[in-house]
Amino acid sequence: MIWDKHEVWSREELGKLQLARLQETVARAYGKVPFYKEAFDERGLVPEDIKSLADLSKLPFTTKDDLRRYYPYGMFAVPMREIVRVHSSSGTTGIPTVVGYTRRDLETWNDLVARIISQAGVTADDIVQISFGYGMFTGGFGLHYGMERVGATVIPISAGNTLRQIRTMRDFGTTALVSTPSYALHMAEVALENGIDPKRDLNVRVGLFGGEGSSDWLREEIEERWGMRATDNYGLSEVMGPGIAGECEAAAGMHISEDHIIAEVIDPKTGEQLPYGQEGELVLTAINKEALPVLRFRTKDLTTLSPEPCACGRNTVRMARVLGRTDDMMVIRGVNVFPSQIEAALAEIPEVAPFYQLIVETKNYLDQLTVEVEVPQHYFTGSFGELEALQQKIGGKLQTILGLSAKVLLVEPKTLPRTAGKAKRVVDNRNAGRV
Ligand SMILES: [Zn+2]
Repeated sequence: MIWDKHEVWSREELGKLQLARLQETVARAYGKVPFYKEAFDERGLVPEDIKSLADLSKLPFTTKDDLRRYYPYGMFAVPMREIVRVHSSSGTTGIPTVVGYTRRDLETWNDLVARIISQAGVTADDIVQISFGYGMFTGGFGLHYGMERVGATVIPISAGNTLRQIRTMRDFGTTALVSTPSYALHMAEVALENGIDPKRDLNVRVGLFGGEGSSDWLREEIEERWGMRATDNYGLSEVMGPGIAGECEAAAGMHISEDHIIAEVIDPKTGEQLPYGQEGELVLTAINKEALPVLRFRTKDLTTLSPEPCACGRNTVRMARVLGRTDDMMVIRGVNVFPSQIEAALAEIPEVAPFYQLIVETKNYLDQLTVEVEVPQHYFTGSFGELEALQQKIGGKLQTILGLSAKVLLVEPKTLPRTAGKAKRVVDNRNAGRV
């Protein structure tokens, strides 16, 4: 269902609206936010220099570190009495980034989330279980209010207590699920352990997955175990939260809400804008926000953009699923390795389950990559030869794809840690113990 008329506007009409909103945002950022005033002055740039959308590339970038430097409220463009909500990142790796919303910003946000919900095919007839964490993370509250806007029945269960999640689904008649993809897989496991087959005994028909990277492999496993349709969506608290982009029923990438957000893809090394279709770092500019106007935010997420019209009738640009992050590349014995490459290699081996962990450590002054992956129980009760053959098969596949030898450790089902939020796929112990 099309939620907002802007989604089907022609690209020309959209472009006009984008330019007007961009100009207004640039003027406000320059006038109200010292960080932008300084960055513009350094470039000898004034807001009046932005005469067309092509002039976007003249604007300075904004990074997560900039938001941290102005922690907590220094990037806000309105006085605190106009801010009605704040959210923040977890801050596990240092100072958190804090974001604020005016009353109008919250209205906009709810509407954008309602859009991605409608794109996924969820309506007022659905009963939706929100298994995202509530609290400072934007995922829980973002989806919550968007679902209410659409008119769906919301079960605000939050993350965790997995058995209670399953019982609630069964007893409350849940038809749609909001969670991270890895948590959806774990919930299916717990259900089966407790004699509930999600496919047969539960009524969940659609899932909206976000908060961490996804892949065809994860999706197919989820669809298979749940008998549901899995959809991806993309959000980022620094720019808005969930609602930036969502997948429609044509399942051909995620539509970006371009009337509120301008997306670019850049070369992460040079900062140069790349043409549509080329893979690079996603950069987002929020053009209709009062509290926190963010110009050219560097997401560190790698993707491609496509402006081709979609079968669903929407004309907004679509982004591909995030292919990796500029900062999750590991250098192991001089070879560049992305966790997504390893996942792609594992996905080609039908015997393995989508639960894996990568461990990097230093042994005898050399980096050693160990890939731990779960395989079905019968490998551990059968012959050792069978287990060894599978180990070699995985090792060979990794060698071909990565150009690097990795140690493969096959483990029994449910050995690797499960979480109700983002899965921790990489454990880098190379600096452990160093002073
Ligand atoms: Zn579409």
